[in-house]
Amino acid sequence: MAEADGSAAGNTPTRTLSNRPARSRSAPAWVLPHEPAPVRLMNTVWADRHGVYDALISRGDLAGWLAATGLTARGSPLNDDDLAHFRDLRDALRRLAALVTADDARPAAESAIPDATAAVAVLNAAAVAVHPAAPRLQLLGGALTRDAAPSGPPVAVARAALAAEAIELLTGETSPRLRACQAPGCVLYFLKDHPRREWCSTACGNRARAARYYHRHRPATATDS
Ligand SMILES: [Zn+2]
Repeated sequence: MAEADGSAAGNTPTRTLSNRPARSRSAPAWVLPHEPAPVRLMNTVWADRHGVYDALISRGDLAGWLAATGLTARGSPLNDDDLAHFRDLRDALRRLAALVTADDARPAAESAIPDATAAVAVLNAAAVAVHPAAPRLQLLGGALTRDAAPSGPPVAVARAALAAEAIELLTGETSPRLRACQAPGCVLYFLKDHPRREWCSTACGNRARAARYYHRHRPATATDS
């Protein structure tokens, strides 16, 4: 499973988005590497026992994330607009995932985009940033071929592909399987890929079981009487 388990111990208050540390302490592009790319983008906001982190702060972070997810935009230098676009898309996806999973009970996981309508607009704008469906005729070596490859800057193509995959994920048959991990302190999302999967990772499952055990067996306090 993931090296960074993306979650925090239950007894440490997680920081809210507003006072999130500016930079992650490790490169967590590989958090839950088997999730679909849109979920992996959501999970660039992650947490450990010390707080909640943003793994998409710099252009270098974005380049690393794109490469790690196989969406690499080779030959296309990333600019600050690209970074802003991907961060917006990430926040939009987290907002819409919260809507789909009804997980608003996780305050530390709250999206920077509070409004679902605004999140839909961000996702749609990303999806139409290129024209993937328009076929083009090419004359190659005297033969005519049909090229349906998306046209546009590679990073915009990658973003549009991600947006299209996200739209399918949020509305298609996978939608009911999208989950917010409810382990203590975790802010990640995952796609439930088998009926018994309850947590994003083994580490979260262990921590959640430990928390349940603690609550069941803790000594009685004044508030329990
Ligand atoms: Zn988790």
